[in-house]
Amino acid sequence: MSNSSEIERRTREILAGLPRGVSLVAAAKTRSPSEVRAALAGGAQIVGHNYVQEAKTAIDALGRATATWHMIGHLQRNKAREAARIFDLIQTVDSVALARKLDAESAKIGRVLPILIEINSAREPRKAGILPEDAVEIIREMGTLQSIRVEGLMTMGPLVADPDENRPIFRQTHELFEQIASLAIDSVEMKTLSMGMSDSYRVAIEEGATMVRLGTILFGARRAAPGET
Ligand SMILES: *Cc1c(COP(=O)(O)O)cnc(C)c1O
Repeated sequence: MSNSSEIERRTREILAGLPRGVSLVAAAKTRSPSEVRAALAGGAQIVGHNYVQEAKTAIDALGRATATWHMIGHLQRNKAREAARIFDLIQTVDSVALARKLDAESAKIGRVLPILIEINSAREPRKAGILPEDAVEIIREMGTLQSIRVEGLMTMGPLVADPDENRPIFRQTHELFEQIASLAIDSVEMKTLSMGMSDSYRVAIEEGATMVRLGTILFGARRAAPGET
């Protein structure tokens, strides 16, 4: 836990060190609205949440207009209705079924919802995300949906001791990103490549990330989330 002025200072410092064209998502799981407010005071403009309810609490407390709100956690299909109403962008779409549900919910409220496709780039068993070899076909299918818009890829990368071990995974995800971009699929725009967390964001940027998702390095060590040990 850190106090507000520390969070604000760290956020400012990290932002100053990011290259042009790389944006910061303040990864806010388990953080209180006042901690999120401190990151916004430090210049963060995008806030990422892992849980719909936590995002709602933060948006209610801080006001929708204070930031851009991203979903970065695993999204269950039964939460799609709410998610389509509260988030500005969903980074973790990992199936056509979920995309269809988000599309239907977005259509109901007359919006077009930007999404990123989560890639299971290391092909880890039981991990969320689309396998790299399936991405093109799945994204073509999502491109036909009128009320969502694919804007890029997101990946988590395996938990490793040395962030450099993630470099090949980040590199391959960047190659996939470029490959999909070169296909110029209708209503698919590859503009965001979201990869890299506190321990790995420098490597991710070297390998082409345009968006990094940082929690610990901004907010300090984290309390366990519900269900975590
Ligand atoms: C928690 C989280 C982050 C940030 O992780 P840190 O290591 O705390 O920077 C990034 N992305 C996702 C999806 C997360 O859940």
